[in-house]
Formats: sequence, C-alpha cells, structure tokens
Amino acid sequence: MDIKIRQGDNLWYLSQLLNVPLYLILASNPGVAPEALSPGDTIHVPGYRLVPYTIQPGDNLYSITTKRGLGLDTILLANPDIDPYNLQVSDVLSIPERLTGPLFLTNQPYDYDILTGHIDKLLAAYPFIRKNIIGRSIEGKEIVEVVLGEGNKNIHWNGAFHANEWITTPVLMKFLNDYALALTNNETIRGLTMAPFFQNVRLSVVPMVNPDGVDLVINGASASNNPEEVLRINGGSEDFSGWKANIRGVDLNNQYPANWEIEQARKPDTPAPRDFPGYAPLTEPEAIALAEISPAMQSALAFHTQGEVIFWGYEGLEPPASEVMVEEFARVSGYQPIRYVDSYAGYKDWFIQDFRRPGFTVELGRGVNPLPLSQFDEIYQRTLGILLASLYMA
Ligand SMILES: [Zn+2]
Repeated sequence: MDIKIRQGDNLWYLSQLLNVPLYLILASNPGVAPEALSPGDTIHVPGYRLVPYTIQPGDNLYSITTKRGLGLDTILLANPDIDPYNLQVSDVLSIPERLTGPLFLTNQPYDYDILTGHIDKLLAAYPFIRKNIIGRSIEGKEIVEVVLGEGNKNIHWNGAFHANEWITTPVLMKFLNDYALALTNNETIRGLTMAPFFQNVRLSVVPMVNPDGVDLVINGASASNNPEEVLRINGGSEDFSGWKANIRGVDLNNQYPANWEIEQARKPDTPAPRDFPGYAPLTEPEAIALAEISPAMQSALAFHTQGEVIFWGYEGLEPPASEVMVEEFARVSGYQPIRYVDSYAGYKDWFIQDFRRPGFTVELGRGVNPLPLSQFDEIYQRTLGILLASLYMA
C-alpha cells in the first residue's frame, strides 16, 4: 500500500507501527532518502493493502482498530484527509490490511496473461520485488525477469523453456509469493528464516522463457499470430500438447553453442514441434535473452518436466561445487542426480561450459507432458526443497 508521510514520520516509526521489517521498507522505496523525508512524500509499504470500510452506526476509531489488531495511528496514517475523531456514518475509511496468504491462484492453466497479471500483483503488494524486461518473444511478448533480494550473490532460475512444460512457471511464481510473504511477516519456510537470503542473494527468476509456445499449448493455434503456420509445423493437428519449441518451431533448449553441431546433425533440420535446434545457435530472441543475463549468475537452475531427475554435469567442465549442490538438491527432493546424458546445446550445458559454474536442469514431476495440475502440490513441495537449498548454498 502507499501512504503519505506526515510531519514527524520516519521510516523506522512506520516499520514499528506496521510491524514490517525496516530493510524491506527501504528496499521498497529505492528513490527515497530516509533522512530527507518531507510531509506529503509517498512511501510504498510492502505486505499491506488498503481496504475501504464504510462507517456504520456505533463505530468509533477505537472499535475499528482494536477489532483488527491495528494501532490507532495506522488509521490516521492511511486517512490523512478524514478527521477520525469526528467520523460520520457512511464516511469511507481506508483500512490497512496485512496480507496473510497467497495473492493468486497458481494451480491453474498458466498462460502468459495469467503470468503478467500475477507479476503485477506481486510488484504492487511487495514493491521490493523488481521486474526487468530482458527481451521479447517472436510474437512480441515481454520476457520478464523478476528480481528478489539485494545480496551480491547472483543466482538464476528459469521455467517454461519448453512450451508443454509450463507447470514449471506457476511453481516458480508460487515460491516468489511465499518468499515475499515470509519476509514481510517474519515467518519461516520449512523452519528457515528468509531475511538472510534477501540480504545475501540477488535472485533472478525468468518464470516463462517461452511465452508464445506456452500460449499455443494452453490456448491453441488461435493464440498465435500465424495459426496456419503453427498448424503446418504441427502436421495439421490442432493438438499442441506435444509442442516444446518456440512459436516458429525452434527448440530453445537446443539453441546454445555447446556442441550445437551434434544436435544439428541428428535432430530435425526444419522447424518442428520439438528438437529442431535452429539454423544456427542463438538465433531465437528467447534464447538470446537468457544468454544475455547469464554471465552475472553464480549458479543457474533451469526447471523442466518430467522425470524427477537433476542433470548437473557437462563434459567434465562442471566445478566441484556442482556435485555438492546436487547431492543436497537430491536429499531434499528425493530426485535422482544424473551427471552426464547424451544431450547437447542446452542452456545448462552452455552455462557450465562458458562460465564453469554450477548449472542444473531439474526435471520436475513424473508422467506425460504437459503434467496435470493434479500434480502441482506434490511437485511444489519437492521443488521447494531445491529452491531453498539453492538459496542457502548460494
Ligand atoms: Zn524440457
């Protein structure tokens, strides 16, 4: 919620009054100099929303605040234009309300519109979260990076490289929501205090690398700007459940310059629902966007489905830390670590090869893609261990 500074207010006082950690208020207001606040300045307070309330006969300021467990001054702060000591029936007050649960439903077919709506909700409720546009898909959709945390350890997670593996997107979005909620309310997740992660780690999340492809799988050919072309690539079928590629039939996870020629020689040589590595490495804007943010990252996890396995090596180039990390990921998730596999040109392969840092492909869940939403809760619980381990091992 946004409030206006009054004479004598300071951020420490707001933190105490609203019981929100001061570091989060500071992080939510990067352009504000805390020592130079003036009356009328707007301050973003994370973890609250303002709810209108119409005064009823018999109400008074005391009854309104105590019923909600709010300090009296929270009402004064949120209603600078109302004389709270002279309330009239049918006056409308803004009541600060602490967020205590998830902002949005993640257990649903999760297309690009749903994603962008949920990112907007996250940014509004938790203004310490940042959003960067790192590129545009073939059809012009923004490829969004969500950044949470102010530490100097950069770690990166991504989802939905492959269109029909879109369930990875709501898994990451649910975690971002849970993480922000735990920070503002000083709650733990699986017994872990989250504040140190915010201080130590700058977490970069690209929840949907391939938005055009995801929309095609969920909403069909009409979701594309060029329905005839996607139907042609799909062999005339309207069933896009097997589609992994971007909208012009390039498999984004075969696009990276890490033995790309091996995949080129044995994979489809024209656009296809899956596996076509493109006519050259890094031709597709979605793959390029990821490549451009990656040099800053100390580790990277790419979330796919399915198989309940974690790929962690590439040609012996992975650093020793990779093995330590994957053993912990396996311990907390029950997923099986796999070091080498006969596969090249993937994001994780390139990340390991170019930076010699830990990179992982994590295959969530088990079954036929797209995995059914009935698996969401179990997948989330397993993945949660990996996400937390990624933070505490950063
Ligand atoms: Zn995949």
